[in-house]
Amino acid sequence: MNINDVEEFIDVVAGNIFVKQEDKMEVLSECDIHKRMIKLIEIMNNESQIMKIEFEIAARVKEEMDRHQKEYYLREQVKAINEELGDKDGLQSDCDEYRSKISKLNVTDEVKEKLLKDVDKLSKMSNMSADGTVMRNYLDTVLELPWGVYTKDRISVKHAKKILDDEHFGLKDVKERITEFLAVKQITKEYNGTILCLVGPPGVGKTSVAKSIAKAMNKNYVRISLGGIRDEAEIRGHRKTYVGAMPGRIVNAIKQAKSMNAFILLDEIDKLCSDYKGDPSSALLEVLDSEQNFSFRDNFLEIPLDLSNVVFVTTANSLDTISRPLLDRMEVINISSYTLQEKIEIAMNYLVPKQRKKHGLDTKNLKISRDAIRDVVNYYTKEAGVRNLERSIAEICRKTAKNMVENDVKSINVTPLNLEKYLGKRKFFFTDVENTDEIGVANGLAWTSVGGDTLQIETNIVPGSGKVELTGKLGDVMKESAVAAISYVRANCHKLGIASDFYKKFDIHVHVPEGAVPKDGPSAGITIATSVISALTKIPVKHNVAMTGEITIRGRVLAIGGLKEKSIAAHRAGVDTIIIPKHNEVDIEDVPEIVRNEVKFVTVENIGEVLSVALTDKPVVKDYKFVDVESEVVEEVRIKQ
Ligand code: ADP
Repeated sequence: MNINDVEEFIDVVAGNIFVKQEDKMEVLSECDIHKRMIKLIEIMNNESQIMKIEFEIAARVKEEMDRHQKEYYLREQVKAINEELGDKDGLQSDCDEYRSKISKLNVTDEVKEKLLKDVDKLSKMSNMSADGTVMRNYLDTVLELPWGVYTKDRISVKHAKKILDDEHFGLKDVKERITEFLAVKQITKEYNGTILCLVGPPGVGKTSVAKSIAKAMNKNYVRISLGGIRDEAEIRGHRKTYVGAMPGRIVNAIKQAKSMNAFILLDEIDKLCSDYKGDPSSALLEVLDSEQNFSFRDNFLEIPLDLSNVVFVTTANSLDTISRPLLDRMEVINISSYTLQEKIEIAMNYLVPKQRKKHGLDTKNLKISRDAIRDVVNYYTKEAGVRNLERSIAEICRKTAKNMVENDVKSINVTPLNLEKYLGKRKFFFTDVENTDEIGVANGLAWTSVGGDTLQIETNIVPGSGKVELTGKLGDVMKESAVAAISYVRANCHKLGIASDFYKKFDIHVHVPEGAVPKDGPSAGITIATSVISALTKIPVKHNVAMTGEITIRGRVLAIGGLKEKSIAAHRAGVDTIIIPKHNEVDIEDVPEIVRNEVKFVTVENIGEVLSVALTDKPVVKDYKFVDVESEVVEEVRIKQ
C-alpha cells in the first residue's frame, strides 16, 4: 500500500507471489509498463481461480467426513442402547424355546441336563456377543439331529436280490456276497459290524450298488465323499471354542439322513490324505469299529452319538492307499471292469431306457441299435466302467430331443452308419496287432485305470558304443523292467546265440509307442526282453502272441495283476495266444468265457519258455532253462581245453 510507483509495485508483487518461474520471467521481460501490468493481473486472476476451486473441494470433503462420523456415533449409541435393554427379552424367549425343545428330546437325562446347562449359560450371555452366537449354533445343531428316530429296517435276502437284479446287470459274485452279508444279518437280527468295501475302477456301479443295498434295507441313504480330506476335524468336528467350529461329516450325515439307523456310503476311502493336521483314517477307525461306535464322540457335539445301527459301506478305486488297520475292518468286494458284451447288455437293458425316460423320450421316438452301442463302446469311450457310455447315450437323447422339436422329426433310429451325426468323429482306436511276424516287435499287455490295452514294444539295434535308450514316456517301474531285461540278455548272451560283445558294438533302442497309454506298472519285463532278444538274434516274434509278466535279472517270470482286463484287450486286438506267468494260472477262471474259448493261455516260469512260444524260430542255444552263468562259462572253457 505504501508504494506509489506503478513499476515498483508490479515488481514487488511479481517477486513475492508463488507462481511458476516462467510466468515471472514473462512479466520481467515485458518492457511496456501497461502490458506488464495486464500480464500480472492475468496471472493473479488465474491463481485466485485455482484457489477458489481448492477451497470448494476442501469444504465438501469436510462435510462428508462430518456426516460419516455422526452416523458412526449414532450407530454405536443404538448398539449400546439395544444391549442395555431391548434384546434381552428376545434372548430370554429364545432360551425358553430351547428349554422346551430339549425337554421333548429323546435323549438320556444326562444329555438333557448338559444341554439345559448350556441354555442357562446362553441366557447370561450378551445377545450380540460372539460366544452367544457359538452357543446358539451349537444348540441348533444338537436339536436338528434325529434323536431317537429310526426307520423300520427290512432285511430280506429275497427282496434284496430282486432289487439288485432289477437295477444291475451281471455282477454275479458281487450280488452273491451282498446277499450273504444280508443273510447273516437276517439270521442274527443285529448288526455285527461288517463293513463292506466295494473296490473297482470308476463307473462300474459301486455307488449305484450301494444305493440299491440301502433301498433293499429300507434305510435312508447318505453319501459322504472322503476324497481329499486331510484334516481329522472333517470327520470328528472342531471343538466349539474354535472360530468357525463345525460338527464333522458323520454328524452332518446323520442330520441329513434324518434317522439314526441310516445307511452311510463313505465314498472314495482310498483318497483320504493325512498330514500334520492329523490322520483322518484313524478317526474313521473309531467310526467304523462296532465295539466303539455306539458312543461316537464328535468334538463339536460333545454328546455321545450311537452309530451302532448305522450301516457303513465304503468304496475305493484301489486298495493300495488304504491304511492297513482300516482295511482290516472291511470286507472287500471286488468289482472288475466290464467286457464289451457286458457293456452292451448294460446299455441296452439299463442305460438306454434310463436316459430315454430322463429325456422324455420313448421307444417309438428313439431306437438305438445294438451295433450302434457296440461302436459307441469301441470308438467313443475308453473306460473300465460305463459312465462315459451313459454320457454318450445321454448326448444321443439330447440331440434327438432337439431334432424332434426343431425339425418336427417323429422318430429316430441310431445305427453305426449315422452315429457320427450324433457323437461327432470317432475318438478312440484300438491298436490291432500287426499281421506279419516282425523282428524286434513284441506285443505287450497293459492294465490301465480304464481297462486293458495292448502295446507293441519295438527294439532297434544300431551300430554304436553300447548305449541303451528307452523312449515312449515310460514310468520309473517300466524303465527298471527294461534295464532288468537287458541285464538278463547280457548275462545270458552266449546261451541265446548272441555275440557276447554285442553291448560294446551296438546301441539298443527300446521304444513303446502309443502315447495315450499310461505305461507304468511292473508287467512288461518279458515283452521287453523278447523284443530285445528278437532284435539281437534277428528271429521274428510271432504277431499273434501277446505276453505279460515281470522278469528278474536271472530270467524268472513273476506274477502280474489285471489278467482279466489284459486278456480282454488282447482278444479284442486279435491275438490268439497269451503268455502269462505260472503264478497267474489261478486267475484264468476270472477271464470271460468268450475270451477263454478263443484265446490260448500259455503259462511260463522263465524267459526261456517265453522265447520258445513267442519266437518263430529257436535261437542257437543249448538249453533254455536257467543255468548258473558262471559255471556254464567255466564248463565251456573246460570243454574247449
Ligand atoms: P462308480 O461308483 O463305480 O464310479 P456308478 O455307481 O456311479 O459308478 O455307476 C455309473 C453308472 O453306471 C450308474 O448310472 C449306474 O447305474 C450304471 N451302472 C454301472 N454298472 C451297472 C450294471 N451292472 N448294471 C446297470 N447299470 C450299471
